Amino acid sequence: TLLVTGASGQLGRGVINHLLNTLKIPASRIIATTRTPANLADLAAWGVLVRAADFNDPQSLGKAFAGADRALVISTNELEIQGKRREQQLAAVTAAKQAGVGHLLYTSMPNPEPGSPVVFAPDHYDTEQAIKASGIPYTIFRNGWYNENLFMALPQVLASGQWYTSAGDGAISYGTRDDFAAAIAAGLASDSSESATYTLTGPSAYTAAEVAALVTEVTNKPIQVIQLSDEALTEGMMSAGLPEPFAKVLVSFDAAARAGDLGIVTDTVEKLSGRKSVPLKQFLETNKTALA
Ligand code: NDP
Repeated sequence: TLLVTGASGQLGRGVINHLLNTLKIPASRIIATTRTPANLADLAAWGVLVRAADFNDPQSLGKAFAGADRALVISTNELEIQGKRREQQLAAVTAAKQAGVGHLLYTSMPNPEPGSPVVFAPDHYDTEQAIKASGIPYTIFRNGWYNENLFMALPQVLASGQWYTSAGDGAISYGTRDDFAAAIAAGLASDSSESATYTLTGPSAYTAAEVAALVTEVTNKPIQVIQLSDEALTEGMMSAGLPEPFAKVLVSFDAAARAGDLGIVTDTVEKLSGRKSVPLKQFLETNKTALA
């Protein structure tokens, strides 16, 4: 039986979609856990076993994980509360161990080791370490930055014609969420019990100036890329109304890009999923309306 936590999230739904529709895994072999089972009524109707699980409630996890041969723990999303995800995810690892899960899979981030500028890197790194210490065979997917993240900033960038960044010439190997979901589903459904750590990325890495040039090609709208210090960028975001913890998270991405931590390109997505990854320009063209 294959288990996916956080199954009502966008990545979780994507993984289950690929298990069912790409890999043709019978619904009866899939357990989907979520904080809100009502959101997965459609999957339950297909025959997927839907169970309640909240990492904030460790007591709920034993029952939720029972009988899973392989379990994918999807990282949680309270990014700006330092240490929160560590606590949640470590509870999931402990529960997987107690439930006798045979293989544990986890969604991490590129280069989360100590020294990463990314504010929440320690949460991922400590979860990776706890997985390794658990003795359960594992697959760690260090997911690169989603193309979809660009939707947060680009509408504003296009409206003003200005993109403020502190990333310098640091590149990011953006990939589509669905490509990552396809690769992760393949890893979950695989019968390999070898432990591995993969970095999942798109097919190329782009600096902010290069992303801006692609966006201009697709939209015909000019973008001026303005380089700032981390401090000035944080202040600018806060004066635009972003809460400080969230501004600090976003600026830490630029710092990580500048340090070269987010630019690694691998072919692991294609190797695992067996399909071509979507290049950023194609993604922008397909989603042009979301940019405006
Ligand atoms: P979503 O925001 O769509 O989903 C959030 C996920 O967090 C859901 O799977 C949700 O599960 C889960 N979650 C939140 N709180 C808890 C909890 N207390 N217990 C168990 N699960 C919890 O994010 P995506 O699906 O797009 O991305 C998946 C994860 O990847 C994110 O949670 C985040 O860690 C990370 N991420 C990575 C990005 C990247 O660019 N690489 C960008 C954004 C996020 P449910 O609601 O079903 O209980």
